[in-house]
Amino acid sequence: MRYAPSPTGHLHIGNARTALFNYLFARHNNGTMVLRIEDTDTKRNIQDGEKSQIDNLHWLGIDWDEGPDKPGDFGPYRQSERKDIYMPLIQQLIDEGKAYESYKTEAELEADREAQQARGEMPHYEYEYEGMSDAEKAAAIEAAKAKGLTPVIRFHVPTDKTYEWDDIVKGEISIEANTLGGDFVILKRDGMPTYNFAVVVDDHMMQISHVLRGDDHIANTPKQLAIYDAFGWEAPTFGHMTLIINGETGKKLSKRDESVLQFIEQYRELGYLPEAMFNFITLLGWSPVGESEIFSKKDFIQQFDPKRLSKSPARFDNKKLEWVNNQYVKKADPNELMSLSLNNLIEDGMLPADPDAKTVEWARQLISLYTDHMSYTAQITKLADIFFVEPGDLTDDEMKELADETAPAVLAAFEAKIKALDTFTAYSINQIINEVKVETGAKGRKLYMPIRIAATRQMHGPQLAETIELMGRQKTLDNINFVAS
Ligand code: GLU
Repeated sequence: MRYAPSPTGHLHIGNARTALFNYLFARHNNGTMVLRIEDTDTKRNIQDGEKSQIDNLHWLGIDWDEGPDKPGDFGPYRQSERKDIYMPLIQQLIDEGKAYESYKTEAELEADREAQQARGEMPHYEYEYEGMSDAEKAAAIEAAKAKGLTPVIRFHVPTDKTYEWDDIVKGEISIEANTLGGDFVILKRDGMPTYNFAVVVDDHMMQISHVLRGDDHIANTPKQLAIYDAFGWEAPTFGHMTLIINGETGKKLSKRDESVLQFIEQYRELGYLPEAMFNFITLLGWSPVGESEIFSKKDFIQQFDPKRLSKSPARFDNKKLEWVNNQYVKKADPNELMSLSLNNLIEDGMLPADPDAKTVEWARQLISLYTDHMSYTAQITKLADIFFVEPGDLTDDEMKELADETAPAVLAAFEAKIKALDTFTAYSINQIINEVKVETGAKGRKLYMPIRIAATRQMHGPQLAETIELMGRQKTLDNINFVAS
């Protein structure tokens, strides 16, 4: 198996899914996982694209046995470094009459396409040596060379064939060669092979047995099968995974869709946990046997069966993303959560860049108080905003609660007892809440709601006494005064 990213961008959720399924398939079958960098489109490569892909794959917990950073028997693992392998094979196809030099310029190709459109035809390449004898063709090539033109190399597509394969995900697929748009380019003017050529050579040379990739590649597969045929090589087994759709809108998840974070890096920055993302992404288009949705990497490897890859589009559901992540946060290592959340609090300016030991201890308690409510650690700044920002005016709902007939007595008693407390701890705060209950006769919501709203300035939150302890006596009294005034 292999994951073969083009370093034209950062690790997208769709690519991460492709990497993950190939990884699970390889590990399940004790196969070899290869990372190959498909960087032949030099104009589209971005700086650090490869590094960022590798970093984020590692973060997710995906590793490989061979790759640019892990020498193996079939390297190099960057296509830009494999020209010595591609060139003799291209020459072989030329010598066998299966590929040829093509001099049609972009302007000529464009003119062809316009004429085709006017005739109501699908755009296709029109053979530039149509009807010529070998001698005429050779003369045309000489003339183009004399003009100083650089050719591309095109692969001669046998037009009378039908390409068929048994797709792991989609079942039987059959595409007629005459729908492929004519002879396609395998070597570009800049001397780089195209994706469709290099991928075949590499998958063959690297002994790739199975290819799982996005179904946007279905149209490429017959072209690749044509090249396998031309060399007399056996093609791998293909599986084309369905696309991911935005669960809210039902539309294909496009990189422009801002309602969903699409790059692994963005999740990482917000303090999502890698094991949770691994779990969530694996469930995008693959389903285990049974109802359970939380699996460790080991479980997934053990259970992975490509037959359970879904035939219908995978829905990206934000609520599920948050739910899965919350399951992991709840059982995460407190030290890991602490260091991630502390960073989030510092980055958002809630805590000083270099907090003293007392502040760190306070933050540790705060984070543990909110852990069960978080899906990712950056939420801490929002969840716990009452500790950091000045409260706004009371909402209508809050005023309604405070208008309750026993509320003033509850608050007056609570305030007096808070002022008189010796040790300001959750334990003693709970005790005085109890005393207020006895003194005022208010209980349940009538007791807790006024106290919660006045002391914490919100109607909902984690355990009340613990929250008040962390709030501190002075801020609690300020809050109560704000409400009372
Ligand atoms: N480099 C291709 C891509 O990123 C890989 C396609 C394939 O798996 O064959 O889409």
